[in-house]
Amino acid sequence: MKEGHPTDGVETMAVHAGDPHPRIGGAATPPIFRSTVFEHSGEPGDYHDIVYPRLNNLPNHLAVAGKLAALEGAEEAIPTASGMAAISTVLLSVLADGGHLLVQRQLYGGTHMLVTGFLERFGIAYDWIDGADPSGWAEKVRPETRLIHVEAMSNPLTRVIDLDEVVRFARAHGILSCIDATFVTPILFRPVPAGFDLVVHSATKYLNGHSDVTAGAIVGSTAHLAPVRELLNELGGTLDPEACMLLHRGMRTLPLRMRAHCENALALARALEAQETVAAVHYPGLASHPDHARARQHFAGEAGRGFGGMLSFEPKGGVEAARRCLARLRLPVSGPSLGGVETLVTRPATTSHAGLTGEERARAGVTDSLIRVSVGIETAADLVADFTQALAD
Ligand SMILES: *Cc1c(COP(=O)(O)O)cnc(C)c1O
Repeated sequence: MKEGHPTDGVETMAVHAGDPHPRIGGAATPPIFRSTVFEHSGEPGDYHDIVYPRLNNLPNHLAVAGKLAALEGAEEAIPTASGMAAISTVLLSVLADGGHLLVQRQLYGGTHMLVTGFLERFGIAYDWIDGADPSGWAEKVRPETRLIHVEAMSNPLTRVIDLDEVVRFARAHGILSCIDATFVTPILFRPVPAGFDLVVHSATKYLNGHSDVTAGAIVGSTAHLAPVRELLNELGGTLDPEACMLLHRGMRTLPLRMRAHCENALALARALEAQETVAAVHYPGLASHPDHARARQHFAGEAGRGFGGMLSFEPKGGVEAARRCLARLRLPVSGPSLGGVETLVTRPATTSHAGLTGEERARAGVTDSLIRVSVGIETAADLVADFTQALAD
């Protein structure tokens, strides 16, 4: 694609945006820059302008950053070594030395451990907020509150917080807003145009999409990202150029994959809901989901894109029934991650939520029989048939 070509379509952007101009050696796929040394003019300049892998400024970093920023409708994106590198760097950058954080209680496990186990050591205080009850947020605000951090969809019950309210609240109180958009990707929701200041991703999941790269990303305006970028450069959570190339390749099919994930998840959720042997199905695309209307508004509105690839369900008959279902499934890989082309199943009580007490799990609505599914892009009928036989009496 020549410079100046319109890149409005999301599929077009996914394929072309961020590619170097001019093409490096004419290569349609940017080559991997393994060099850790780049010639320097010797003229005085800024440290952060030196080309060096840790400074996230090799052509491979710039290609990923350009593609993601275009997809997000944001000024800038920064690739990071992992989702947790993105999250920890943002939290430390905004909050270190006396800041106060408002954070949604239902959190990804790694973020939960970072918040509860480490933030205090950096002089950061926090308060939980209930995503379902914005009326209780204002009383938690302190003079030193700087950030509200939420997740686009809760794990594993796929609850959806009122994202417009988060933006409105942050602006009303003069604080920054940050969203972990891993579950939705810019294909379902673009937080920056919606008013969020900062976006973090585990690119290990859907953005790469093939379960073969650990990576993360931070997205936002140039002004908001400048201090984050400087801290990231010093903390060193940079993404290896080889991983950059794989992530760049993965993102080229992101719109196609997300469409397939959404279609398959909706088909599987409907099939599970129709099973006699299933007690509950949690998928925001189902009319029975408590946040269905909100999910439709945020994620599936005018663009009609869909409700994501994550669902969870509870077979009737408790833990024994869940174990039997998992043992009988043939197609899915049994594993706790998500967002790859292959369908994954896991019982959160034994994996992502194993660190919680039984009581904490009960409060979070995560029963011991709950099965979480990261719905892949296999043939929908094959998935439905496999789950149906696994759940048969
Ligand atoms: C996996 C995940 C993370 C952490 O990402 P890593 O790439 O494993 O560091 C953060 N948030 C969410 C929602 C995730 O699913």
